[in-house]
Amino acid sequence: MDLFDLHCDTAYECASQLGGVDLMKGAHHISLSRGAYIHRWRQIFAVFMPDEVRGVPAIAHYERVRDYIYRQARMFPEDFRIVKTGRSLSEDFDGCSAILSVEGGSVLAGRIERVQSLYDDGVRLITLTWNDSNELGDGIRAKKGRGLTPFGRKVVKEMNRLRMAVDVSHLSDAGFYDVAEISSAPFVASHSNARALCCNLRNLTDEMIDTIARRGGMIGLNFFREFLRDDGEPHMTDILLHAEYMLSRGCEDCLCLGSDFDGCDIALDMTGVESMADLYEAFLRLNYNEELVRKIFSDNAARYFTKYIFEE
Ligand SMILES: [Zn+2]
Repeated sequence: MDLFDLHCDTAYECASQLGGVDLMKGAHHISLSRGAYIHRWRQIFAVFMPDEVRGVPAIAHYERVRDYIYRQARMFPEDFRIVKTGRSLSEDFDGCSAILSVEGGSVLAGRIERVQSLYDDGVRLITLTWNDSNELGDGIRAKKGRGLTPFGRKVVKEMNRLRMAVDVSHLSDAGFYDVAEISSAPFVASHSNARALCCNLRNLTDEMIDTIARRGGMIGLNFFREFLRDDGEPHMTDILLHAEYMLSRGCEDCLCLGSDFDGCDIALDMTGVESMADLYEAFLRLNYNEELVRKIFSDNAARYFTKYIFEE
């Protein structure tokens, strides 16, 4: 089984833990040893930015988690590496290929030149906001629900220029449509489900799903209980229902996974990266053809990142 997962908070969680936990054998949703069964594993590791950390402290917060990820790559060179080029993305590697992302545009501290320095660090996706507002615009829980600020608009253009994925998960509805208007490249919702099935505002409306699909972007299915079912008690089958719904709206080429591992409480019958094999089996048992399951688990995201992000 191949896997290309658009979102986890594992590095942030491990880096934040006292005493220092390594990625190899921690008890988190993701560990390198429990994921070793995956044939070709490409995983986006997010640096989560708390909304209240701003300015210079935001930069320091980011650098602490970034340095942790780089230390892990030096510590486990056979099992973990950071991917920065299309060539290394497509190379065979018997371990986890990490792509860096940042969850929260506060990481820029309001300075446009920071987009380039993140790119130089290997960051290839930025989630523009977390739940509240920041220098780029309003998140989905911000009271006024405004769209992007002038600075946020500049950031989208700079990310387009550098070929970084613009991520609208967590963004306000108005912000979503600003991105749709401004971005010259297909954009992603790295970890969001369908609002029609679970009415949490973090999920996407039908119109948003259709917009992303039409533009050739990506939607990563989120395993967070509260985004799967309104009663907050979902099982793995609820992930299949969201997948089924997206597919019914023409998402065959834009659907992928955005597990949100180590950032949330996941579906009740899942425990972590080892459960990906069960989910894969669950799709096959429902008579999905294997080509489509591969698309969802890996091929769609691999195609998107090869075509729009890593093409040199
Ligand atoms: Zn998130």
